[in-house]
Amino acid sequence: MDAHTVSPTLSTRSPAADDLKDAVSRSGFQIPGTAARRRNIWNLRNALGHHETPLLDALSRDLGKSEFEAHTNEIGLVRHEIGLALRSLKNWTRTRRPVLELFAQPGAARTDRVPWGDVLIIAPWNFPVMLALSPLVSALAAGNRAVVKPSELAPESARVVGDIVREAFPDGTVKVVQGGPRETGLLLESGFDFVFFTGSSRVGRIIMKQAADTLTPVVLELGGRNPAVVADDAALKQTVRQIVWGKFNNAGQACVAPDHVYVPRQMKDIFIREIRKTITEFFGEDPRRSGDFGRIISSEHVRRLERLLNGENVAAGGVVDSGASYVSPTVIDSPDPDAAVLQEEIFGPILPVLPYDSLESVLEEINSRPASLSRYAFTGSRKTAETIMAGNRYGGGVVNGTLIQFASSKLPFGGAGESGMGRAHGRAGFEAFSRTRSIITRPFGLDLPMAYPGRRLPLGLIRRLMG
Ligand code: NAD
Repeated sequence: MDAHTVSPTLSTRSPAADDLKDAVSRSGFQIPGTAARRRNIWNLRNALGHHETPLLDALSRDLGKSEFEAHTNEIGLVRHEIGLALRSLKNWTRTRRPVLELFAQPGAARTDRVPWGDVLIIAPWNFPVMLALSPLVSALAAGNRAVVKPSELAPESARVVGDIVREAFPDGTVKVVQGGPRETGLLLESGFDFVFFTGSSRVGRIIMKQAADTLTPVVLELGGRNPAVVADDAALKQTVRQIVWGKFNNAGQACVAPDHVYVPRQMKDIFIREIRKTITEFFGEDPRRSGDFGRIISSEHVRRLERLLNGENVAAGGVVDSGASYVSPTVIDSPDPDAAVLQEEIFGPILPVLPYDSLESVLEEINSRPASLSRYAFTGSRKTAETIMAGNRYGGGVVNGTLIQFASSKLPFGGAGESGMGRAHGRAGFEAFSRTRSIITRPFGLDLPMAYPGRRLPLGLIRRLMG
């Protein structure tokens, strides 16, 4: 689809409505060459650099994000993605020329990666900068025009993302539309060539249904309940540090955070003691005063998390201050299997510790649940690691660590089933935002007659030619 001129009905007049109207009136898409793509990515890089201070400020206001987390989890990851795209663009966009089978001869074949055209990137609030701009790098590398719809729940960051895009793309190659479900719905209605959605499984379903109306391809990067499984031979200190870091980074509001942890029953008490110690080591006696511990995005989410603590055996933390959007790093000791905290993705700083007697029954349980985005195993044994990481009920994971599978742009990232479809980051991101187009060029003057009706090749020969 090269041109879109649909204008959804807009009743309100506001800057957001103007942006929306502007974003849905698109026409005349042309595939840019690699030089133009490189320029686009450089422009994004420069604008990102110019807005570093407002970004740090916005992330702190939206999520209480420390400068360290803002750099490592947001700005640094976008810059990393940009660097890889600039270095790899030539290779990613290279025309491939496979040699054709004898029966398809004579002819020279080529395959090119072509952009979808106009793409829509819908971002969540938990990493409001990185999850809006990293996919944008892939979209630009693949040669698309893009509309970015940041999350309305992180308004300060969304505003700076808008400023960055306006500075980098005065020609409108990329536009930002601010808003929530209504604006997203109107954007989808206007028809895009591809949609890249990051968010909850609930909204992912809505997006995919709406995209089905226009047969628009989608990538869905969704959530899930990521289990961490600790074996009895795991190195206690390192295991606990990785789990505490992975769980309480961004106050637990990360799609790849370990959701809950299974620990051998005989290790449970010492494990919880070590968690308490590590929380104090990372965030001090009162994490509320720590500049390294974030805040919960909204009072609604604070109330949701508070409800999950009701009636549970709190072994660490458990402090909730909704006025300050604060939930302390919290550990729940041995919740019932049917407890609310084990029914949904926690997405906050609450860690249920589940003692187990048999590793087999733990694996049976996690392998029979809807697929998670990640899985984590902690063990010194390669065989045990393989056993824990077997099966296909998760998108990806780490043995003896957490989160880092997300950070590497060398690794395709994404979910399975309930936790999503399609892959992002680095080359996989470039591929998600493009498709392969195959062309065969045949010469004139070499038109072999035996393939036409009435001049049939002997069947024996056809069988041999086609395998
Ligand atoms: P969300 O699904 O509520 O919102 C995501 C986006 O969709 C936002 O931009 C929002 O405005 C829009 N939206 C919300 N409701 C809509 C509707 N009814 N129709 C159309 N658009 C709508 O998700 P969230 O709360 O912002 O983010 C948290 C979720 O995202 C968690 O489940 C988390 O696991 C997941 N997540 C996944 C990844 C990943 O890479 N797989 C990364 C971060 C977050």
